[in-house]
Amino acid sequence: MTWIGAALRILAITVLAGLVGGFYGHALAAIALALAGCVGFWLIQMQTVQQWLEHPEKAPPDVWGIWGDLIARIYSIQRVNRVTRERLEANVVYLQDSFSSMRDGVVMVEANGSIKWLNHAAQPLLGLRYPQDTGQVLTNLVRSPEFNRYFLGGDYSVPLQYTSGGEGGRHLRVEITHFGEGERLLFVRDVSAEVRMEQIRRDFVANVSHELRTPLTVISGYLGTFMGSTDGLPERYIKPLKQMNQQAERMESLLKDLLWLSRIESEKREAKRELVDIRGMLQELREEMSHSYEGREVQLTLGSERKVLGDYRELYSAVSNLVTNALKYSPHNTPVMISWSNQGERSRLSVRDQGIGIDPVLIPRLTERFYRVDDSRNSATGGTGLGLAIVKHVAEAHDALLTIDSEPGKGSIFTLEFPGGEG
Ligand code: ADP
Repeated sequence: MTWIGAALRILAITVLAGLVGGFYGHALAAIALALAGCVGFWLIQMQTVQQWLEHPEKAPPDVWGIWGDLIARIYSIQRVNRVTRERLEANVVYLQDSFSSMRDGVVMVEANGSIKWLNHAAQPLLGLRYPQDTGQVLTNLVRSPEFNRYFLGGDYSVPLQYTSGGEGGRHLRVEITHFGEGERLLFVRDVSAEVRMEQIRRDFVANVSHELRTPLTVISGYLGTFMGSTDGLPERYIKPLKQMNQQAERMESLLKDLLWLSRIESEKREAKRELVDIRGMLQELREEMSHSYEGREVQLTLGSERKVLGDYRELYSAVSNLVTNALKYSPHNTPVMISWSNQGERSRLSVRDQGIGIDPVLIPRLTERFYRVDDSRNSATGGTGLGLAIVKHVAEAHDALLTIDSEPGKGSIFTLEFPGGEG
């Protein structure tokens, strides 16, 4: 029944009461009585509805007219809501169940930084307890400055890897994503086994390189002696000996690069930091290049006086690799340009050549060990494929960003951007 129906019904009752009352000469009193009756009836109905609304889980009462209609609608809306809520609750339980069974730690954090929920795996990894720690501020409980800096920093584009509990502790990798309204979902994984494997691999490479050096020195020594005086040697031996000598030299530079890379990787960097005068370093490098690449032009643009906090030998080797590449992969009649400049707070060292360039799709792979764009082309240049891996490591150790811009046929720019600089 609509409200118009209800109004018409009251009107009909009023008119009827007026007619009957008029017949007995008390029309107004009869109308008032009828209206009072209607109001009374409505009040009783309203009370029934109110009582039911206080306990909506009970069956709906049997009421009459527009109230019955209202109750029927409320009841059907309630039923739809209950079904939706049950489905949502089932989804939440399902999600929590799947997170609970994950081997990675998962923590849900509220917008204000307090813990909302965490799974079993997160408890030993982060030293948390569930449900006791619910509502506590996460950074008050995880006692790692690195973790707290990362969590509060808000830039989660790169995962954090840190050692919990100092030396000999677990290596953890943390990834954080935003969801909902300012909430964060934190995934934490124990990567100690991977870190250990990586260490074993590095040690192995370093040891093998080291062990191979002595026999190689002996071989190279004899080959050098033979090549020094070829008189008296049968003609047919000369070409093979020359090739053996070249390959021995190549092996030597490979071992040298491998050992250097292992050293850079295993250094405890905090221990040896000095202010490196980049201007002086670049001048020294140009001097060296003018001897090893005679006739080639290396231009220096020194627009900055700044010094960089770091390791001279490492920085020298990184820039030397970049300049050597620039010289190797560009024609003889083109210059190589090195510049050192200020970019606001940051300082930039760039090495530019007008050489063969690199296909942009290959650029992300260049810093992999032993990666060379085209082996046949490079065998002529005598590279090891380790140069840019060394550059990348040195850059990381100095918090510098290595960027590579290149256009095939036009040339390349390799840039090291340092976060600051002194002076
Ligand atoms: P390599 O010892 O072979 O030079 P690198 O790690 O230094 O090894 O460089 C990897 C590869 O990147 C090189 O083999 C070369 O193909 C390419 N490359 C590096 N620098 C340049 C450059 N300036 N111009 C063109 N190609 C380059």
